[in-house]
Amino acid sequence: MTFEEIGLKSEVLKSLKELGFEAPTPIQEQAIPYLLGEHSDFVGLAQTGTGKTAAFGLPLITNIDNHATVPQGLVICPTRELCLQIAKDLETYAKYLKINIVAVYGGTDIRRQMTEIKKGVSIVVATPGRLMDLIQRRAISLSNVEYVVLDEADEMLNMGFKEDIDSILESTPEHKNVWLFSATMPAEVARIAKTYMDNPFEVSIGHKNQSNENIDHIYYQVKEKDRYAAVKRLIDFNPEIYGLIFCRTRQETATVAEKLAKEGYSAEPLHGDLSQAMRDRVMDRFRSKDLQILVATDVAARGLDIDNITHVINYNLPDDIENYTHRSGRTARAGKKGESLVLINTRESGKIRAIEKQMRTTFTQGTIPNAEEICEIQLMKLINKVIKTDVREKDIQKFMPTVMAEFEDLSKEEVIKHFVSAEFNRFIEYYERAGDLNAQNSKDDRGSDERSNRRDRKSDGIETGKTRFFVSIGRRDGLNPGGLLRHICDATGLKSANIGRIDIMTSFSFFEADDQYATDIVRQVNGTDYEGHEVSIEVTKAKSGGGSSHRGGGGGGRKDGSGFGGKFQGNRDGGQRREGGGQRREGGSRSEGGFRSEGSGQRREGGFRGEGGGQRREGGFRSEGGFKKEGGFKKEGGGQRREGGFKREGGSGASDRNTTFGKPFKKKS
Ligand code: AMP
Repeated sequence: MTFEEIGLKSEVLKSLKELGFEAPTPIQEQAIPYLLGEHSDFVGLAQTGTGKTAAFGLPLITNIDNHATVPQGLVICPTRELCLQIAKDLETYAKYLKINIVAVYGGTDIRRQMTEIKKGVSIVVATPGRLMDLIQRRAISLSNVEYVVLDEADEMLNMGFKEDIDSILESTPEHKNVWLFSATMPAEVARIAKTYMDNPFEVSIGHKNQSNENIDHIYYQVKEKDRYAAVKRLIDFNPEIYGLIFCRTRQETATVAEKLAKEGYSAEPLHGDLSQAMRDRVMDRFRSKDLQILVATDVAARGLDIDNITHVINYNLPDDIENYTHRSGRTARAGKKGESLVLINTRESGKIRAIEKQMRTTFTQGTIPNAEEICEIQLMKLINKVIKTDVREKDIQKFMPTVMAEFEDLSKEEVIKHFVSAEFNRFIEYYERAGDLNAQNSKDDRGSDERSNRRDRKSDGIETGKTRFFVSIGRRDGLNPGGLLRHICDATGLKSANIGRIDIMTSFSFFEADDQYATDIVRQVNGTDYEGHEVSIEVTKAKSGGGSSHRGGGGGGRKDGSGFGGKFQGNRDGGQRREGGGQRREGGSRSEGGFRSEGSGQRREGGFRGEGGGQRREGGFRSEGGFKKEGGFKKEGGGQRREGGFKREGGSGASDRNTTFGKPFKKKS
């Protein structure tokens, strides 16, 4: 098919000729004739580089009435760059047609854009945030819009523009054509198609989505010797995990499962050396959720058809990429979300690229959680459990007078602090010793690959080429990673690709962004409003050399505690004292943030001591709840406490391995 045959105006054909476009690309061939028709709701699964801009741009400029003064065509896209690019492309295609095209995006003077719109415009290319702003100021009328193009719909939703898109689509007339382009089709994009389109024509270019879009593929780069420790952290970071760990050999499967079980995790192996009866038994236990983690070989796990698996952990990558597809496909079944986590050593990132290419999926690089992150998760889990615990009045009645006498001198707040510290100290001590497990790329690997360079981290833990910023608001201000990303992109007009790691803490946050935008980011984001909270932002200084170097932090681990502009003045723990020191403007109710360990020296006598090193030494930290052994609250009986205290034996050994705490996983009796 030629462009002539497709039905474009002669003026458009002329500019295409000048551009050297000889024949339509596949998506253009399929989309253009349809989009030139009367009713043309359309979904195009296509990535950048397929010619999608012309696929919607050519019919758009052909269909539009070039004498219109209020917008007939509306193109919405996620970033300023794309916005400018699309507007420029449309202008080039429409060179011989008199069409007013205006690009509106954040980070620049809105009044100039308002003036341009006022002058009369047929097509508006906009980022969602700025368009919403214009709608709210009544500076744009969408009442004549006949065509709405949603470009890179998945990326817009990733960036948290869901509400804006809904709102924009609601502001346009009911009878319009919606043309949606997206590289992938997650549920949210499908929802938009369903809500705002009438029987859309669907075109998928390049590939069928082989990989299940509900699976997040994340890889972690670790040193070979740290594989096992890294797996443990991933499990500890996901206390509710119901997961499969894949190993390459029977031997490795047996070793990993055995080590995990010894350390109190609810894990068992599944491999070919086991008798059929054993395998059936293990499978049954896993199926009934009596077992939380199954460590398996590819062959043994064949035919394992279980819903609700939350995580697949690839202890090693399989030799065969096909097997990776099978492994990861064990999670995210029946429309659920799931994660496939992959541990690679510093020489294996090429394998990730090979899988990405073959599966047509994208991996993100994860950071093995650091002590603080795991502690927070575990502590919150514990606190949740405490809050939800049934109080058996009758059973505890006889102990209560003694217990109450013990606490007599402590206020409620102090009791809570002691309780929190009792666990927190235990967590933190174990993980502190463990250090940072994230490894850098080896030189020959991914070499000049842009992505790998972006992810290299400097000695201060910040990605090469990136600047780290402190943001004055955090989770308790309603901030989440998507929200922050969107806020920054909106305020600055940057693309999400320019923004790196985001760490949302309870009352403040951090993010990284390309160095060259640092000044603009500070200027444009400072003083902005995020859902009623004023945002102040500063460039963080490189981490000071202070005593936390043993924790490394190559993964950009949360450096909040050290060397940041004097705000997190140095306790020895580096980042451990989260949010200490008056970070919040209102003076920081510290008890809310970050569970600071008081340090044994500071504690009053009579406090609960964390349990001794004996158990930790054997396997380190065992998280509470889930399938795992209790591990905590074991009174040490040390000299600090008066006798008659609250004594409870934290079990050790296999007998109580499956002790549970009323969480979803049940203990087999
Ligand atoms: P896009 O899908 O917008 O990312 O387009 C990718 C690149 O292909 C852009 O540089 C377009 O100018 C170019 N392009 C689009 N359609 C054609 C065509 N039919 N022939 C040659 N180049 C094209």
